[in-house]
Amino acid sequence: MKISDIKVDTFRYRTKWFRDYEGHSCAGAERWTTNNMLTIRTDEGAEGYFFAGPSQGVVDSLIKPALLGQDPFFREKIWQRMRRMQKLTNSLPDMLIAHVDCALWDLAGRYLQIPVYKMIGAARTRIPAYASINAGDDIPGGLSSPEDYARFSEELVRDGFKAIKLHTWMSPLPGAPDVKRDVAACAAVREAVGPDITLMLDPHHHYDRIEALYLSREIEKLGFLWIEEPMNEYSMSSYVWLNGKLDMAVLGPENLEGSYQSRAEWVTSGACDMLRGGTGEVGGITPILKLIHLAQAFNLRMEVHGGGPHNMHVLCTMDNGWFYEWGLLHPMVERYRPFPWQKTLYDPIDAEGFVQVPERPGLGDDIDFDYVREHTIDEGAVGRGAPDVY
Ligand code: MG
Repeated sequence: MKISDIKVDTFRYRTKWFRDYEGHSCAGAERWTTNNMLTIRTDEGAEGYFFAGPSQGVVDSLIKPALLGQDPFFREKIWQRMRRMQKLTNSLPDMLIAHVDCALWDLAGRYLQIPVYKMIGAARTRIPAYASINAGDDIPGGLSSPEDYARFSEELVRDGFKAIKLHTWMSPLPGAPDVKRDVAACAAVREAVGPDITLMLDPHHHYDRIEALYLSREIEKLGFLWIEEPMNEYSMSSYVWLNGKLDMAVLGPENLEGSYQSRAEWVTSGACDMLRGGTGEVGGITPILKLIHLAQAFNLRMEVHGGGPHNMHVLCTMDNGWFYEWGLLHPMVERYRPFPWQKTLYDPIDAEGFVQVPERPGLGDDIDFDYVREHTIDEGAVGRGAPDVY
C-alpha cells in the first residue's frame, strides 16, 4: 500500500474563541473562523484524518514530496524523514509534523479496524480528567477576579471534575501578569473547592526566577500538585534552580522545541519532577511514545498536554501519567459540546470525573463529513480558531 494523495479542506465554523496576539485563547462574541481537515489517502482507498492540519501550500511543497509513494505503515521512517527536513526549512514546525503523524496513525487504525490505543498496546480505557480553566480576562462575569475563578471552580466540581488547573492573567492583558493576583486566585479557588480537589497552576510563562519562586512557594502552601511553565523554558538552568528549592512538583517542559531529545536533557539535569509533553508539541504520537517510555525508565510521571483524540489514545497506553486535560473552559462558553465538524462529543466526563476512550477505529473521531463539505472554502490558511491544537 502506498500514499497516493494528501489533501487539505479548509472550512468555516462559528466559535466564541479567538486568540490574542500572544496566542492565548480568549472568550468573546461568536464569530466565523476556519479550520483545516488534513486527509492522507492511499492507492487502496484507505484514509486517515486530522484537524487543524497544515495548509495545502505546505502540504504541496513539503509534505507531498516526503510522503507520496511511501508505505503509510512506515511511520517511524516518515517521521524521521520529516524531522531531518526541519534542519533546513522553517516551514515545518513540530506541530505540523504531528498533524501528519496523527493522520497516519488514524489511517492505520481505520484500515485495520482497531483503535489506535490498542494498536500501540493498551494500559487502560478510562482516564481521570482535570478541568483546565482558560487564562484570565477583564470581562465582567468572566475570569476577571479571584472570586470569578472561585465561583467557576465550584461549577466545575459540580460537573464532576475532581481536579482543576488554573491559567491566570497573562500579557497582553492590562495589569498582567501579577504574582500576588495569581496567588489570590489560587487561594480563592482552594477556599471554594476544599482540600480534596487536586489543584494545579499554569501561570504567565515569562516570570523571572524570584517571581516564579515566590508564586511556587505560596501555592505550595495551598497544597497545589504542580507548577507549570512559570518561566521561559529555553533556560533549563532556571528550572534546575527552581526545582531545587521546592517540595511541590515542577512540571515541564511543555512548549520547548526539540521533542524527546530536549526533554531527555531536562530529565537528566533535574529540571523537573514530572515530565510534560503534548502529542502536538513533540511532533506526534510516534515521538511521544518515546517520551513516555523515557519517563518510565526514570520513574517519572509524564503528564500529557492538551485534550483531543490523539492525546486520549496515548494516555490509554501508559500507566505513569494521571490526567487528561479537559479544556479550555470559560464561564461564558458553553461546555461539553462537540465541535461543529463532530457528530458527537469525543470526551464527555462521567460523574466520577473520568473520560472514556471511544472504541471506534483509528483515532475514533466521529467526523461529520457533510458539515466539512458544506462549509469548505477556497482558502489554505491554518485554522487558529479552536482553543487547542485539535
Ligand atoms: Mg500548559
